[in-house]
Amino acid sequence: MKVRFPYFDTIGMPLLGLAATVLFVAEAKRQLRKRTRSKTERLKENASVAALALPALRLLLLPCLYAAARQAEKSKFGVLYWAALPVWIRYPAGFLLLDYTNYLWHVLLHKSDLLWRFHNVHHIDLDLDLSTAWRFHVGENIASAPYRSAVVALLGAPAPLVLFYELMFEGCTAFHHSNLRLPYKVEQRLSRVMVTPRMHGIHHSIVAKETNSNYSVIFSWWDRLHNSLLLHVAQDEITIGVPSFRDPKEQTPLNLFMIPFKHQRAWQLPDGTVPEREEKFPRTRLAP
Ligand SMILES: [Zn+2]
Repeated sequence: MKVRFPYFDTIGMPLLGLAATVLFVAEAKRQLRKRTRSKTERLKENASVAALALPALRLLLLPCLYAAARQAEKSKFGVLYWAALPVWIRYPAGFLLLDYTNYLWHVLLHKSDLLWRFHNVHHIDLDLDLSTAWRFHVGENIASAPYRSAVVALLGAPAPLVLFYELMFEGCTAFHHSNLRLPYKVEQRLSRVMVTPRMHGIHHSIVAKETNSNYSVIFSWWDRLHNSLLLHVAQDEITIGVPSFRDPKEQTPLNLFMIPFKHQRAWQLPDGTVPEREEKFPRTRLAP
């Protein structure tokens, strides 16, 4: 299986690194949500989770996606081949479909009890910023490989497109997890097309209805399409995290690794109450 992708590593990765550096500086200068914990402590915790997840992403997931794309290409298999679309339509259509299937995967991460055990580790971060963008349990990345490879094969997505999509996926994930305060008007317009920091902040709320919304990764259209878009919650009203994991002492590297294999807790605060918020309308109007 091919594991070396020179353009990805020598052009894509440095560009991603540059984008991450810009976001890291910008989110420190223009904070969107108030921090509740020490940034250094969280950086250490999130780095410990990413230390296993990122090698799995680069050395397992990416080669699997690429192999699936090449296999489909050799066998002339997949929806995009059968549709016999011209290249200039095949690539954008493939990009959109890859993004849509990642929306579906994110929904599955929340709806399946087994997958949630792993995705929960991402959500129990008590603050949300750039470093959360790589805080995914290694098990989640491994679990995504068969699903995402099957999708690439079924779509017949071209291999270069798969690599390009992955770069955009990572860049957009970094952007929407960041704690960067964009001018409201700019973000309001942007959120009509793509997932933004305010939109994804709501996805990390301790209110179940809010966590189970805004699943999109790059384009926000999939949430509009499935009526899972929820934008009316102001960022200073959001408590980030999962209600049953409020104790920062639990955020040790070993515990973060072990959480998926432990007894799962009900969606409630330590005192037994279930966080709720009155629904305001319209749901699709971005709160400042
Ligand atoms: Zn999620």
